[in-house]
Amino acid sequence: MALPLTRSKALQRRAETLLPGGVDSPVRAFRAVGGDPPFLVSAKGAYLSDADGNRYIDLFGSWGPMLLGHAFPPAVEAIREAAGHSASFGASTAAEADLAELVQLCFPSIQKLRFVSSGTEACMSAIRLARGFTGRPFVIKFEGCYHGHADALLVKAGSGVATFGIPGSAGVPNETVMHTLALPYNDLSAVEAAFAAHPELVACVILEPVVGNAGTIAPLPGYLKGLREITRKHGALLIFDEVMTGFRLAPGGAQELFADELGGAPDLTTLGKIIGGGLPVGAFGGRAEIMDYLAPLGPVYQAGTLSGNPLAMAAGIATLRSLLEQRETIYTRLEATTAAIVEGIARLAVERGIALTTNRVGSMFTCFFTPSAVTDFTTASHSDTAAFARFHRAMLERGVWLPPSQFEAAFVSTEHGPAEVDAILAAAAEALHEVQ
Ligand code: PLP
Repeated sequence: MALPLTRSKALQRRAETLLPGGVDSPVRAFRAVGGDPPFLVSAKGAYLSDADGNRYIDLFGSWGPMLLGHAFPPAVEAIREAAGHSASFGASTAAEADLAELVQLCFPSIQKLRFVSSGTEACMSAIRLARGFTGRPFVIKFEGCYHGHADALLVKAGSGVATFGIPGSAGVPNETVMHTLALPYNDLSAVEAAFAAHPELVACVILEPVVGNAGTIAPLPGYLKGLREITRKHGALLIFDEVMTGFRLAPGGAQELFADELGGAPDLTTLGKIIGGGLPVGAFGGRAEIMDYLAPLGPVYQAGTLSGNPLAMAAGIATLRSLLEQRETIYTRLEATTAAIVEGIARLAVERGIALTTNRVGSMFTCFFTPSAVTDFTTASHSDTAAFARFHRAMLERGVWLPPSQFEAAFVSTEHGPAEVDAILAAAAEALHEVQ
């Protein structure tokens, strides 16, 4: 079964002459799963349409932002209206405080925040702020966690770096990453040892509280609490990178979902994806005394020509308002839909004798082609990536678009319902045959 992709293939060949790999972000090139990527022309709700007229059920949601589905009418209307007033002022607007208030309502740990234009900027800036505030150089991160492509954080990162099996990136001098310590996720003893080895030198610990960029990996019971205790004991800041999990797992992200076991909020949080409703936005925020270390109040410099962009603020406000209005129902629905998909695929794999480990937290999930539990990047790496590639291709041919890498989370939106669940499982029933 081959997808008719004549137009997409032509577009890819043309793009390859102009953009490296034909793409603006590496994993989009489908190198890890083979074949040419379909070129998309439109999307509505849970469905994507490509240049050859093929339709797909979307299970990657633009890598997370499209929680409420594509072309969500209130966001489309808000963007249209804002654009009529000017795409950018480069000066303050009320919309920035409006969106900040909505974020703060959901994340009580964020007393103050600053908007930027991407998750990368949010994490890079949070790290600089943590170093400036503590006066310490070291940063602890975790293998398989991706915090954007800023130099200091591109060490044993997940996402595309994991997809291409490389430890980091050329062009990042050792001097730039000599203060970055990459430790195994879900292992508190490694964190204790790192603090012991570098007393009073660690500025912060940054992590994805639920990992999405090595595929979906949940924190083990007590892990987040342990990190909170260790960082507090050593005077280091705890940074939750909730670029992916913020507003997806709960309005208040992973820190709300795991509040009972956390034993205290993170000092700083980074956000992105959903808060821009599909437009380029990031944010970082936390305790006011830390945030006030930023210029113009404090000595840590950070800036952006398009930061707080009016179109992005408008899309974010429309998205978060709608999400909050429906908060009593949407998370239960997302949970039920995603559980039906994941449990269905797991059942089909068992029936066919395929070794599959399914990890799910809320509406994020990953099907790892491995028989063993996946609790960190090492165990994720034991997956049969060739089997994943066959599964991905077979699903795509049957109209279901999974993220094109074993080391990425799939996302479900509020627009996915019983009809989409049935169609996904029907596709999976056939696709898993091709994996065998
Ligand atoms: N942090 C996390 C957890 C992410 O998943 C990502 C992107 O996928 C980033 C940071 C970087 O965000 P961006 O791609 O907007 O720069």
